[in-house]
Amino acid sequence: MMSISLNQKIPVYYNFVGGEWIETKSNERIESLNPATGELISYSQKSNIKDVTETIDAVNHAFLQSDWSVNPKRRYDALLELAQKMTEKLEDLARILTMDQGKTIRESRMEIMGCIDTLKYFAGAARTVFGRSMQLEPNNFGVIVKEPIGVVGIISPWNWPALLMIRELAPALAAGNGVIVKPASLTPSISVEIFKLIAEADQFPKGIVSIITGPGSSIGAAMATSEKIDMISFTGDTSTGKSIMEMGASNIKKVALELGGKSPNVVFQDANLDKAIPVIGQSIFISAGQICMAGSRVLIHESIKEEVVSRLKQYAENLRVENGLLETADMGPLVSQNQLNIVEEYCQIGRQEGNIITGGYRLTGGDFDKGHYFAPTIIDDLPSDCRVVKEEIFGPVLSVQTFSSDEEALKLANDNSFGLSAGVWTANLNRAMKMSKEIKAGTVWINTYNKNFPEAEFGGYKQSGLGRTRGIEGLMEYCETKHIHFEME
Ligand code: NAD
Repeated sequence: MMSISLNQKIPVYYNFVGGEWIETKSNERIESLNPATGELISYSQKSNIKDVTETIDAVNHAFLQSDWSVNPKRRYDALLELAQKMTEKLEDLARILTMDQGKTIRESRMEIMGCIDTLKYFAGAARTVFGRSMQLEPNNFGVIVKEPIGVVGIISPWNWPALLMIRELAPALAAGNGVIVKPASLTPSISVEIFKLIAEADQFPKGIVSIITGPGSSIGAAMATSEKIDMISFTGDTSTGKSIMEMGASNIKKVALELGGKSPNVVFQDANLDKAIPVIGQSIFISAGQICMAGSRVLIHESIKEEVVSRLKQYAENLRVENGLLETADMGPLVSQNQLNIVEEYCQIGRQEGNIITGGYRLTGGDFDKGHYFAPTIIDDLPSDCRVVKEEIFGPVLSVQTFSSDEEALKLANDNSFGLSAGVWTANLNRAMKMSKEIKAGTVWINTYNKNFPEAEFGGYKQSGLGRTRGIEGLMEYCETKHIHFEME
């Protein structure tokens, strides 16, 4: 527990419950540190089970008492109002996001703009939650209606804390649900800052949307097991996702899971390397590799391996790694000391079982010593069953594998328990079609990577998830389907 004498200049974030800012019953707070400098940037509430119970009751009450679930025009207005408020605060929010998470300021702006775009898309979509009607027998009509599920718990991760919260919050609200958000304990600041804008917006009924901060293992688990929460939308680690599924079984609540990945970029001999190299480089080094769809494996046709590896090495070595607040930064620090230790451990394995082409070490000296900086890393010559090739590292580490035929490329691409995304680089349309059909992943990009849109569905095959986020399917995840049947006399 922290000392009671708080530094007055450091913001203290509260839970937002029943339309009010309140303190946790635990009287404990979480310290947030800037990953680039180690400085204390905020305190947030270390909520306990009593807080969870109170929040769930408040959201259930607002869901039953307000017109939210039956007023799509109000939901449209509310989401647009939030989009407008975020647009006005874009620069402030981007700075807070960088200090909270460590990512570069350019990436933070992109993330906040992604939130705004998502809110606008789902504002419109709120007015398109249509059903169907059908004649079933003489004198018998069926009407299929889409209804909100009820109260939804959203548990989000620390790597894209603004967008991954909004990516679920926007469709959950657009569909007419009440929502409780629990952000990751490493990055509560940006989430609560966005909730400050929700609190100022006129169109949200009091209490329909809440945020509580605190440990996943206690309050996240209490949400997942609660009988008064009808759905959990979880984005995070695959092993946590498995526990959420088990916990959700307590009341057969709906569970939507967006989990980990180990995505390949497959580079054929006819690829346009001038275009491919910077995109592949960015796909793994963006967010210092802490992104679910990171292109963390590059599979290269053996005839062009030397050229691709040497150009990727050059790309990695040219990146400026520094405090993300600097406009010149290409890559910031890792989010925490723990994440740094994990990445170091994988590089140790890579060193023993393969050949480090570049990087593989923590950056030290000067300002680097205050934060969690790691060099962009490429590792070659790894056996295909090596943990570096198989497991999600969640750091700036790219593994290299080679293939000699299309069949081998496909086999390697699918040789993984994850199936989130993939990139295919070729000028041959037939090859591109075949690969995109046969790679087991929720998104396959051809001659590009990391292109995401609120209207295009995203999600995982295999152990990368359950259900889809974004797009109309993403909206439908937050709806129940009801058949209402009329028989005429
Ligand atoms: P994590 O699973 O450790 O934590 C995610 C959230 O779950 C946090 O809010 C955490 O507090 C909470 N939590 C932890 N234990 C819990 C429990 N027992 N019960 C309930 N909640 C619990 O994941 P992370 O380290 O924050 O995020 C990194 C992971 O997220 C990576 O595996 C990454 O690939 C994945 N991810 C997936 C997507 C996607 O869209 N598929 C997007 C971003 C991140």
